[in-house]
Amino acid sequence: MSENYDVIVIGSGFGGSSCAGLLAKEGLKVLLVEKNNIAGGKAMSNNKNGHVYTPWPVMGAPVTDNLCQKLLDDLDVADLATLVDTEAGSYYKTPEGKYVAMPTMECDGVDPTILFDWLGVESSDRDTALEFIMNLTLMESEAVDELEGGDFDSWIKQAKLPRPLYSFLISLCLDGMFMVPVDELDAAEAIYGLQDIFLRGGGLFCEGGYGKLADACLEAVRRQGGTVMMGTKVDKIIIEQGSVAGITTKKGDEYRAPVVISNAGIQPTTLKLVGEEHFEAEYVERVKGLVPSYSLLGYRYFLRKPITDKGFGVVFSQTSPWNTERMEKAIAGEGSREGVLYFEVPGNYDAGSAPEGKQLILTGSFCPADPNMSKEDIKAWAEAGEEIFFGLFPEAEKYIEEKDLYTTKSVSNATRDAAVEGAGGETIGLAQIVGQCGKSKPNIQTPIDGLFIVGCDAGGRGIGTQQAIMSGYNVAEAVKNLSVKS
Ligand SMILES: Cc1cc2nc3c(=O)[nH]c(=O)nc-3n(C[C@H](O)[C@H](O)[C@H](O)COP(=O)(O)OP(=O)(O)OC[C@H]3O[C@@H](n4cnc5c(N)ncnc54)[C@H](O)[C@@H]3O)c2cc1C
Repeated sequence: MSENYDVIVIGSGFGGSSCAGLLAKEGLKVLLVEKNNIAGGKAMSNNKNGHVYTPWPVMGAPVTDNLCQKLLDDLDVADLATLVDTEAGSYYKTPEGKYVAMPTMECDGVDPTILFDWLGVESSDRDTALEFIMNLTLMESEAVDELEGGDFDSWIKQAKLPRPLYSFLISLCLDGMFMVPVDELDAAEAIYGLQDIFLRGGGLFCEGGYGKLADACLEAVRRQGGTVMMGTKVDKIIIEQGSVAGITTKKGDEYRAPVVISNAGIQPTTLKLVGEEHFEAEYVERVKGLVPSYSLLGYRYFLRKPITDKGFGVVFSQTSPWNTERMEKAIAGEGSREGVLYFEVPGNYDAGSAPEGKQLILTGSFCPADPNMSKEDIKAWAEAGEEIFFGLFPEAEKYIEEKDLYTTKSVSNATRDAAVEGAGGETIGLAQIVGQCGKSKPNIQTPIDGLFIVGCDAGGRGIGTQQAIMSGYNVAEAVKNLSVKS
């Protein structure tokens, strides 16, 4: 027995849930199948000890014109999720080891004078630095697009910026947005990201955790008469005569549709859910060779007493920017693992998310994406992050009621399988590196008729959550046009 739909969406990450909601709104009969009992994938909401939170720090950007609000409005579910923005509480760790808090910016984005004062940029360097920031911020999209295919580090190094400003741009802004070494990061992707932050701000959150946004999308599917199946893992995508025909689940059920949209990742979709025998060898090789972003691991500190009033922050120093050489040395255990540390304190932007008088601090720091990382490596990467955390908040130690470690295995378990060695635990999805962005990014339409990829592996750009929703819009548009034609 099988049931028929117009479209089946596999996965309720931000890509899958937004796309499913938009297609249901178009009047298509949608089935969304999610393996977890919680929606939202890498940005799901969890709760424990009376706290509500994303399982790791997830901060949205840009704040103004963010696709999250557009999506809620387009789906008529703005009543189901409330976005909040909060000022960054970042810290610059000086070469002397002092943590200096970022001053308040009076504008939405970044005020260069305040920034230069904070970073101690010499007055002799300020004209060059200001000119660089102005050019970057106001660069027209045609000029940005021309930089696609080159790496951001080669481009920014031409400006000979003072090291604290270079570190700010790389570590505070780009490392967390893209999670790739700066000498591999695509220059156009990086510049669009910096323009977003400088002109439209960073630090958008959702009350009750970002998962609320995915919940709202699923509710939109239901309201339009679609079906949402949680706790159901898709086992196979059915291919008949070279076209997609439906899915089977681990429970052994079959559902049929002429369009299947997978949010399970391009590698797991191609290599596991469909099977490489259904594709040309060249496509399979390309998919196998795709590089995932790096990842984050860290602790959730449940504190018996609040120790900070910051909603979120990034802690960086002049030595924290990651490049390939430094990362390779760190992975081999031959160099420092100290990079940038992210922290988020949900109770400080969403009072209802924490029990009275308690505080939860989520932290994360760079590490490779491999979900099968050894215990020794997990310990070493976690200690590098924890050293910064206790350097910044030494008093935290005595207020810890409980602390949980999350790893790349946790990310993989919650989201996607490791279909190739070293992948699965990535923070973003496909790495936004040279050769994998813009025109070189995998197509949302796979070589199999009716099979699409949605989420951070195809169809979008920008920071993870924003990129996934952009992909949701683009895939929905492509599928809508397909159904109009047929
Ligand atoms: C530690 C961490 C920190 C992050 N910080 C930020 C941040 O600060 N800002 C930001 O914008 N982004 C951040 N991100 C990234 C962002 O959350 C992701 O890039 C984005 O949410 C990915 O969305 P997606 O649609 O591509 O897919 P995913 O979130 O990966 O969702 C895929 C979904 O598909 C489901 N699925 C997979 N296989 C199957 C199957 N066989 N059957 C059924 N369902 C299946 C999964 O369960 C999951 O729900 C962070 C991510 C992590 C892990």
